[in-house]
Amino acid sequence: MQPFGTTIFAEMSALAVRTGSINLGQGFPDTDGPPEMLDAAAHALRNGRNQYPPGPGVPELRAAISAHQKEYWGLDYDPDGEIVVTAGATEAIAAAILALCDAGDEVVCFEPYYDSYAASIALAGAVRRPVTLTPDESGEGYAFDATQLRAAFGPRTKLVLLNSPHNPTGKVFSREELTLIAELCQEFDAVAVTDEVYEHLVYDGLAHIPIATLPDMRERTIQISSAGKTFSCTGWKVGWACGPASLVSAVLRVKQFLTFVNAGPLQPAVAVALGLGSSYVDGVRAALESKRDRLCAGLSSAGFRVLRSSGTYFVTVDLGSGADGISYCRSLPERCGVVAVPTQVFYDNVDQGRRLIRFAFCKRDDVLDEAVRRLRLLER
Ligand code: PMP
Ligand code: GLN
Repeated sequence: MQPFGTTIFAEMSALAVRTGSINLGQGFPDTDGPPEMLDAAAHALRNGRNQYPPGPGVPELRAAISAHQKEYWGLDYDPDGEIVVTAGATEAIAAAILALCDAGDEVVCFEPYYDSYAASIALAGAVRRPVTLTPDESGEGYAFDATQLRAAFGPRTKLVLLNSPHNPTGKVFSREELTLIAELCQEFDAVAVTDEVYEHLVYDGLAHIPIATLPDMRERTIQISSAGKTFSCTGWKVGWACGPASLVSAVLRVKQFLTFVNAGPLQPAVAVALGLGSSYVDGVRAALESKRDRLCAGLSSAGFRVLRSSGTYFVTVDLGSGADGISYCRSLPERCGVVAVPTQVFYDNVDQGRRLIRFAFCKRDDVLDEAVRRLRLLER
């Protein structure tokens, strides 16, 4: 694991603290989630929920996840056998890869990719086969090349690791794109492992489409999500994986030796949050959509070339030819007291991402405004 060093999020958050900067790097909200959820957690802590929960998760949370999957995506998962609660989406992703990949097996993933993917693939001794998401000329979004996607599949392909809505680009994969991926999964007998932690954070009236809802995909998909983003509790690390029993039991087999169980008193609280219904979720989406607009307008006014983000907590900007995002982000706090994240660290083909950096907009409006004010003072 030596090449993996310290994560960019840890490095940039430490830099923000050291320089007293506004942290638009690491994606975490600066306000709390629903009070009903926080009260339920406090109640659970005070009322004897502090010992090991059952391996797959507490029954009320598995029931709530099952109801959520049905309500939003029309997917049926049996709480007994087709759902496992994990230590965040991160553990679910790691456990899925470790469960399904032998050394030398290949994992197709879209770069830039969330940093834990490369590390989990390496832990399994598997091999990444990246497909590049490239900003289009108009700045209206990121797209992949279908020929490159097909070429990434081969006889050793075990998994496709798919993240939509996508961090760091804010891309929301379309039904056409997902159909292409699904067809290749079937042709090459690959399993789709889907990171859907931003499932509810989709803007501009677009729809999130879980690939498990496409024809014949439920049986070959491990669908992963987490409470962190939807309910503004990234520090709780309560996630889950859903899928057919054969795949979910494999995830559970690995999970039991990674953490065994996790977050005992927080699990019933997340069940309460999931039960709050669509008005809560719609409110979170609307608030974040307006924050996206606020930050994007501010970045444009500060002279940045903003690439369209249609989902997540994040937006990327293109610094232009010759720019290097890493050195830019390392010096930005000193220059103006704002932290961003260079996206080139999420690429195998680093040249593709050298000019791009990411800002998080999951912050209070006054914090976003102050960040923009500082960025506008930059000499360009
Ligand atoms: N996947 C993506 C794309 C993310 O942005 C994050 C950020 N937290 C995670 C996974 C990790 O989720 P969790 O905190 O639930 O482990
Ligand atoms: N998901 C968050 C981000 O992308 C950070 C998670 C982490 O720090 N590992 O910024």
